[in-house]
Amino acid sequence: MASSFIDKARISVRAGSGGNGAIAFHREKYVAAGGPDGGDGGRGGSIIVQVDDHMSTLMDFRYKRKYAAGNGCDGQGKRKTGKDGEDLTIRVPRGTLIRDAETNEIIQDMSGSEPFVLCRGGRGGWGNSHFATPTRQVPRFAKAGLPGESHDVVLELKLLADVGLIGFPNVGKSTLLSVVSKAQPKIANYHFTTLFPNLGVVWVEDGVSFVMADIPGIIEGASEGAGLGHDFLRHIDRCRLLVHVVDASGSEGRDPAADFDAINEELKHYSPSLAQRPQIVAANKTDILDGPGKLETLRVRAEEMGYPLMEISAAAHKGTQELVKRIAQRLSALPPVTVYEPEYVPRPPAVDSSAPLDIQHEDGVWFVEGPWLQRLMANVNFADYESRMWFDRTLREAGVFERLESMGIQDGDTVSMDGFEFEYQR
Ligand code: GDP
Ligand code: MG
Repeated sequence: MASSFIDKARISVRAGSGGNGAIAFHREKYVAAGGPDGGDGGRGGSIIVQVDDHMSTLMDFRYKRKYAAGNGCDGQGKRKTGKDGEDLTIRVPRGTLIRDAETNEIIQDMSGSEPFVLCRGGRGGWGNSHFATPTRQVPRFAKAGLPGESHDVVLELKLLADVGLIGFPNVGKSTLLSVVSKAQPKIANYHFTTLFPNLGVVWVEDGVSFVMADIPGIIEGASEGAGLGHDFLRHIDRCRLLVHVVDASGSEGRDPAADFDAINEELKHYSPSLAQRPQIVAANKTDILDGPGKLETLRVRAEEMGYPLMEISAAAHKGTQELVKRIAQRLSALPPVTVYEPEYVPRPPAVDSSAPLDIQHEDGVWFVEGPWLQRLMANVNFADYESRMWFDRTLREAGVFERLESMGIQDGDTVSMDGFEFEYQR
């Protein structure tokens, strides 16, 4: 049952390829042979990721694992550019991390509302109309479109909430959330009812509010000694404050102080940083205390840890507003919710540059061509310094500059590569 909550998924995404450039020639009634007028191929569609606040799990990704954007259409005669491929938008719950499947590095934290371009579509190939030079009046070539980027990624949900509710099953976490917010989590007198995280906005006063999360329960059978399992703790990684709900009445024959210790122990195992997170202890079910003993023992434990303890009865709405105010007060002094910085740096693909390139000198322009050059160019981002340096290095190592020099290239000469023109500088 617990597996019906999906908070991690591996998917493959592929942007569309660019359309091919057209080889076409202009025909007009009284013109014997017209000029080249083949249009460019359209751009491939991109893969775009966008936050959707109606989603709270990654369940959809369990059934569909491959995503592809549309390909660009080929160019046509009369300089008609092919249609661009359609972008594909993938919707994810807020707080989803996109990681590189191989290295696990964070590519993007989908916390904000800005769409994120995960894979760019391939550039469309140039039609032959681009390649008319004074000597090459009738270019019989055009460029193929470039493949779109593709990536295997892991999506991982880390909710964006200020406050995370923690505690054993059945202690009243969902009840508390339903009382202080408009969220309507399932409440039932049996364990593990919370299979999906529930987020509730808690309004305090004068525009002050915070987000509280009730997370999927500790694994089934925890109380019978099957172990607590701490997968669920991932969801509260970002929370600024934890509200530790304890059944202070020990209504199920439990020992509240021991419950409190057990959960704290589990936090420590999962992540020392989470164990350091500030806590407020909500001693719940105070309406059915069978004496002050258990509550007082719990209070001592909480105070030893340096956490304030608030007595509440979520079901009877007792002490809940005081708790809310205390939470808001505490939050106002805490740093904002963590947003993860991207770690992933795309690595340039290996380009086998061993095959010699073809170099032609025509009308003062140096045309450099070859099978791997196009692949190299497709992977260069000329707006990026590092990328340009890689481009430069690859050409240097392949001996291209040396050959151009020996053929007599001069500073300021034009070098044409794969349709791009560069000015040669030693
Ligand atoms: P969760 O598993 O921690 O989310 O617990 P729930 O909110 O689902 O509550 C479990 C059971 O405890 C339900 O039957 C609730 O009605 C009950 N409960 C919750 N809060 C209180 C309370 O303050 N007093 C009493 N007597 N029962 C409560
Ligand atoms: Mg619950």
